[in-house]
Amino acid sequence: QADERESMYLVSEFARDYFEDVLWNTEPGKAIGLTYFKERGFTDETIRKFGLGYSPDEWEAFTKEALSKGYQLEFLEKTGLTIVKEDGRGGGSRQFDRFKGRVMFPIQSMSGRVLGFGGRILKSDKKAAKYLNSPETEIYHKSKVLYGIYHARQAIAREDNCFLVEGYTDVIQFHQRGIENVVASSGTALTPEQIRLIHRLTNNITVLFDGDAAGLRASLRGVDLILEQGMNVKVCALPDGEDPDSFARENTLEDIVLFLQEKATDFIRFKASVLMEEAKDDPIRKAETIRDIVNSIGKIPDRIQREVYVQECSRIMDISEEVLFNTLAQIGRKEV
Ligand code: ATP
Ligand code: MN
Ligand code: MN
Ligand code: MN
Repeated sequence: QADERESMYLVSEFARDYFEDVLWNTEPGKAIGLTYFKERGFTDETIRKFGLGYSPDEWEAFTKEALSKGYQLEFLEKTGLTIVKEDGRGGGSRQFDRFKGRVMFPIQSMSGRVLGFGGRILKSDKKAAKYLNSPETEIYHKSKVLYGIYHARQAIAREDNCFLVEGYTDVIQFHQRGIENVVASSGTALTPEQIRLIHRLTNNITVLFDGDAAGLRASLRGVDLILEQGMNVKVCALPDGEDPDSFARENTLEDIVLFLQEKATDFIRFKASVLMEEAKDDPIRKAETIRDIVNSIGKIPDRIQREVYVQECSRIMDISEEVLFNTLAQIGRKEV
């Protein structure tokens, strides 16, 4: 079992090296992959730091190279780097590269081992997904991984705060601007295991979300899970139409830091004011909102902290503390 996992790490690390080599040292790699990253504003240093690469637009270029270097097909298949298809007749099989023709983002563990990959298509093919990830494997458990944690871990501890973003390029662009305490959930819903990974390093999370309604909704979920672990959560909405990548590209470090300082708001306070604003004078929606907020407050393990939030929400929402405390008592720490 341990041997098998080690073999999978070794294959993955060979793949990372191979995709990097293709990116820097082959014609298609340079013309297609490197050009793409440069157009996104990534410097050579950044591209090397994150081990970005390019997978040739050929059916089995990677698989052939790996086999010729002595890596076993078993582990190429187990890591998902090679897809093996049984032929209908004759008992033969065909194999091909999962990430054919994509730019590659290696996904690393806290200690820097390569667990899997994200691969992005370059052209906007109508049919193919924009990002393709390694499948769930013995070494790559999507729910337990955060993109960027290896490069962010020291900065998270030092700054005693972690920025949480959505995507690979958001993490990379922030680093390039000089903000290194940032990780991405890679488009999946945040899980308790992912939060625990951050909690090992800090008690504070700031969730950055895209400046649109979908981004806001998406990040309001998930956040209760952070409260449950007794962590402090701030949220920060980016300007309309921006994601952290585009925002970091268009602004100086100074402006970004200033923006984050000014706009990052305590989560409960944020939720109370946004939802109350939406509910306006509709009594039914107002009642729902109150239950929703109290539900979030109920996730906080610390009793004193809960009481402070009740007092504050009472002011923000113009509801008596008594009503809020009663609702809190009713729900205990469960969903209403
Ligand atoms: P880009 O700037 O390269 O277009 P993005 O990071 O802004 O990409 P989003 O569409 O905002 O991409 O998605 C955020 C994250 O969600 C991505 O970085 C990726 O991890 C994941 N993701 C997006 N689309 C897909 C997909 N089709 N399949 C799997 N994961 C995806
Ligand atoms: Mn803690
Ligand atoms: Mn995005
Ligand atoms: Mn983007």
